[in-house]
Amino acid sequence: MTASGSLTVVGLGPGDPQWLTPAASAALAAATDLVGYRSYLDRVPATPGQQRHGFGNRSELDRARLALDLAAQGRQVVVVSGGDPGVFAMAAAVFEAVEHGPPAWRELDIRVEPGVTAMLAAAARVGAPLGNDFCAISLSDNLKPWATIEQRLRAAAAADFVIALYNPASMARPHQLEDALQIVAEMRDPDTPVIFARAVGRPNERIKVERLGEAGSVIADMATIVVIGATTTRRIARGGGAVPYVYTPRSSGTRC
Ligand code: SAH
Repeated sequence: MTASGSLTVVGLGPGDPQWLTPAASAALAAATDLVGYRSYLDRVPATPGQQRHGFGNRSELDRARLALDLAAQGRQVVVVSGGDPGVFAMAAAVFEAVEHGPPAWRELDIRVEPGVTAMLAAAARVGAPLGNDFCAISLSDNLKPWATIEQRLRAAAAADFVIALYNPASMARPHQLEDALQIVAEMRDPDTPVIFARAVGRPNERIKVERLGEAGSVIADMATIVVIGATTTRRIARGGGAVPYVYTPRSSGTRC
């Protein structure tokens, strides 16, 4: 039996409605059911007759299973995620639930609609810090041990990647960002630019560029993404108190 229900995991982008792709908008408008964090659902324009299943902090896997159950009943379900749904977000939880769930879930039409992830939105605000090799690390140790995070930070720093840090801090883990910056600072110049981009694409957006040597004292919350430059990352100062441009050249030699 092929179920007629469908499940689409949609990325809403970082906040600005103009950063929602037309494909994501179309999927949202076609859904019979929306599943996701209440604060994300609040960003989706109302469609008459559509049911919303808002969650507080219930687990991602529970949300994924509810969505799959609804799709298996023949509904057209959309699971919403901030940014891109495949980057530290709901898409992986959906496929984990499918792998371990009833065989019927594999017959569903499951799609992922990409979105602008926070790292790309933050980079665009200051120039081109991700212009050369980079990586993304989540500092959240809810789903992996802190020792693993430390090991990845050391490896990324040693390999001279630009490093984007998602989930940099929370009330429960106030020192993790400081510890992470300290690890990278052992291998990089204190002048290395570090971008703090808070609430990118939302009305309360705030962008700062600090030196790695002083970045440890900056307070970042869970709405902030932190991008640490590589040894080649450059800063271009601007007048009038404007945030400097930051870019990482494509080549490691000088081309100008
Ligand atoms: N799927 C999301 C990431 C989820 S993890 C994405 O692709 O962007 C949540 C983390 O993403 C936050 O702790 C923060 O580090 C980052 N983030 C999400 N939206 C952001 C925004 N508008 N501005 C800055 N950082 C953001």
